[in-house]
Amino acid sequence: MAALEFSAAEKEEAVSLLQSLIRIDTTNPPGNEREAIELVENRCQSMGLETVLVGTSRERPNLVARWPAGAHRKCERPLILSCHLDVVPANPEQWTHPPLSGFDDGTCIWGRGAIDMKGFAAMGLSALSRLRKEQTPINRDLIFVAVCDEEAGTRHGSKWLVDNHADLLGENPEYVINEVGGFTVHQKGRRFYPVQVAEKGVAWIRMTVKGTSGHSSLPSDDNAVVHLGKAIEAIGRTRLPWHPSEEASRFIAGFAGPDGAAARALSPLLSHPVIGPRLLPLAVTDPSRRKSLEAILRNTANPTVLKTGNPINVIPSTASVDIDGRLAPGQNAADLIRELQNITARIPGVDAKFEILEESPAVSFSPDTPLFEEIERGLREADPEAHVIPSIIQGFTDSKNYARLGAICYGFYPLQLPEEIDFASLFHGIDERIPITGFHWGIKTLTQVLQKFLTKS
Ligand SMILES: [Zn+2]
Repeated sequence: MAALEFSAAEKEEAVSLLQSLIRIDTTNPPGNEREAIELVENRCQSMGLETVLVGTSRERPNLVARWPAGAHRKCERPLILSCHLDVVPANPEQWTHPPLSGFDDGTCIWGRGAIDMKGFAAMGLSALSRLRKEQTPINRDLIFVAVCDEEAGTRHGSKWLVDNHADLLGENPEYVINEVGGFTVHQKGRRFYPVQVAEKGVAWIRMTVKGTSGHSSLPSDDNAVVHLGKAIEAIGRTRLPWHPSEEASRFIAGFAGPDGAAARALSPLLSHPVIGPRLLPLAVTDPSRRKSLEAILRNTANPTVLKTGNPINVIPSTASVDIDGRLAPGQNAADLIRELQNITARIPGVDAKFEILEESPAVSFSPDTPLFEEIERGLREADPEAHVIPSIIQGFTDSKNYARLGAICYGFYPLQLPEEIDFASLFHGIDERIPITGFHWGIKTLTQVLQKFLTKS
């Protein structure tokens, strides 16, 4: 197969589409993704794809565009390319360039969504356009999906789509390519490319404590708000137990691999329930890397939303806090509640009750597939020094919903990043931006992987 090259015009078109998408405000809440979704739909239609918009409201549609494989070909189960077009809020006062500007400084395109994940929408369309132009004889339906509402929990987006329109998603797609993976992580002079094959589960929990209601002009030794404060403080201070998993161990081993025998021998100890928590601060000195490794090795529980009584002059009889819990593979919300109960049970006078507001388990997919192999090969061709690692992320993506269709979902959004740009800090961060050459590198890498995988006999 001839080497794949993109013309200057093709590259420019992808960048300008990304800029247009950034300039459409899809901050969620409220999202209002319609204009952005329609822009993407337009591009799909101009390539001759069949498109459908469906959703829970007019303002928040989801796009499904389909490229059917020819009827005469032996057909595999479909492959979905998925992106979300909503973004998290950004405060312009904190940014170097306005977050909805799509500003081009000659090196990077700036703006909310440049990375997460309008960049992938532009990249995917660019790849698709190229494959269409070349009349690539695809061996399965290729379905391009752009959803709303990922950032606020997927209720109007992929969750709704999977619950109500599995038909549009090919009923039982074999693969989904989505965020978060395929970007460069620099470590000790080496370049790693994590490709996401697993994500932690979610357990949103409400903790409520009781006290005695009364007039707040009198002293009280049974004030629910004070009890709640103590319980929150204790949860915040306690490090929950380690729950080693194959997903986490494989990820840690992947980074240690090229470091030689000593590092390879040390890496399994990080997952050890007793040694791991003590070893981690010594073995990983970078605080942000340490935090993300710790997050994949245990459950986490962050109190976020307080609910107490009012008015100010009445002591409320109850007070509660919502806790954003994230589950290690193999754990469920009841397990996490037990861990929290162990903490609060030790506080005198505090009787905490827990209820589950929302729960979804961790998802995990085998990296032992022909698509993963192709992704790995593609990354190595694009960067001969690449170390490709099946990774697990601490957050969730639309993949948790697609998993319910029986699809194998990978986070593969190829992006070559220079050493001074740290992916984790851009994701939902201030000054989110995408390096233009790395973006073009990604388009080429994604196109190549799709081209080879979709024409395999
Ligand atoms: Zn995202």
